[in-house]
Amino acid sequence: MTPGGVWDRARCEALDRDDPVAHVRERFVLPEGIVYLDGNSLGALPRSVPARLDEVATKEWGAGLVGSWEQWMSLPEQVGDKIARLIGAGKGEVVVIDSTTIALVKVLAAAVRARPGRHVVLTSVTNFPSDLYAATGVARLLGDVEVRTVEPADIDKVLDETVAALLLTHVDFRTGELFDLARLTAAAHSVGALAVWDLCHSAGAVIVDCERTGVDLAVGCSYKYLNGGPGAPAFAYVRRHLQATLENPLPGWLGHAAPFDFDATYSAATGIRGFVTSTPAILGLSALDSALDAFDGLTMEEIRQKSVSLTELFLASLEERQLPGLQLASPRQPAQRGSQVALRHSDGYAVVQALISRGVVADFRAPDLCRFGFSPLYVRHVDVFEAVEQLETVIGTKEYTDDRFSRRRAVT
Ligand SMILES: *Cc1c(COP(=O)(O)O)cnc(C)c1O
Repeated sequence: MTPGGVWDRARCEALDRDDPVAHVRERFVLPEGIVYLDGNSLGALPRSVPARLDEVATKEWGAGLVGSWEQWMSLPEQVGDKIARLIGAGKGEVVVIDSTTIALVKVLAAAVRARPGRHVVLTSVTNFPSDLYAATGVARLLGDVEVRTVEPADIDKVLDETVAALLLTHVDFRTGELFDLARLTAAAHSVGALAVWDLCHSAGAVIVDCERTGVDLAVGCSYKYLNGGPGAPAFAYVRRHLQATLENPLPGWLGHAAPFDFDATYSAATGIRGFVTSTPAILGLSALDSALDAFDGLTMEEIRQKSVSLTELFLASLEERQLPGLQLASPRQPAQRGSQVALRHSDGYAVVQALISRGVVADFRAPDLCRFGFSPLYVRHVDVFEAVEQLETVIGTKEYTDDRFSRRRAVT
């Protein structure tokens, strides 16, 4: 990006003309007149999905009936392999199962049990609350395990030989700050702990190289930057060399080596399949399968470059306009930032509601964060321009102080 000058509409349009990822927007259904900056909460609908869902319902379920299980049975691994490419994992290392929190319970419990004699799960106070609840639940279930929750800056100090697993979320859901996944994974290994990562805000937007960085276990959700749809199943990554020793703590018949033997004793399937518990939700899994085709022909490097270009443009434009009452809560350096920017405002909720009424969809996280997610597959540079224009109006005219914008909804 060239420094200086005014980030006007024409310059933003020029960035879009030079954007090698721009054509991918055509793969999505996006309502006219909406600037959608909430793909970090619910990704937009890929154009291929409705037809695929119709096909699964009508042909596979409707006509094929129970016989369709023949093709459905291996979907958790097949779709997992599609995600693997996006997080630097190998084939057979990712499986699509459950929901993120449930998948986290499974991989975290497996990790702790793989380090007998160690009784600490170390995590950050800034972690996503569901991850903290899940970790606490795992500790209670296993007994004699403590969840130690510290400030991010204290992780290295507290990391020692008592730690069984270091559990962190790669991109902070509030500020968009990136944890140094490679360094912290190595730090965990240096004390003999396993590194467990939550990739919810990373997969599909940020470069993650599970293979090279030595990540042991990871989970992530597929309805954010992966665009799998509301409540789409989660993914779990288990490093290949750990698969033979780690045990799924919630064994079920579909993770059994031979489910149709209906054996009274459990014998885990080899490989990543052992982390499957139950009958997969085929409709959601099929929607995700189709949604992932939107990544066809793209490298994560291209996607990350686009993401950085969008967040940098947003920040440069804001710096140019100097809007009162807004404070940057995200790191200014792109290398330390995921694909979202968070701005603090004392009336943040109302600011976001006023933006939404003007067709710019962002979201709010208490107490004062306005979050703007830049999904690199379909957000354009002109959308960034439009968002900044509307933000300037909402703040400049104090439109956000209107009563109708302060009424709290159930989902913020
Ligand atoms: C969105 C998100 C989740 C979601 O958990 P679910 O079990 O899918 O509801 C978990 N962790 C993080 C870090 C998230 O951002």
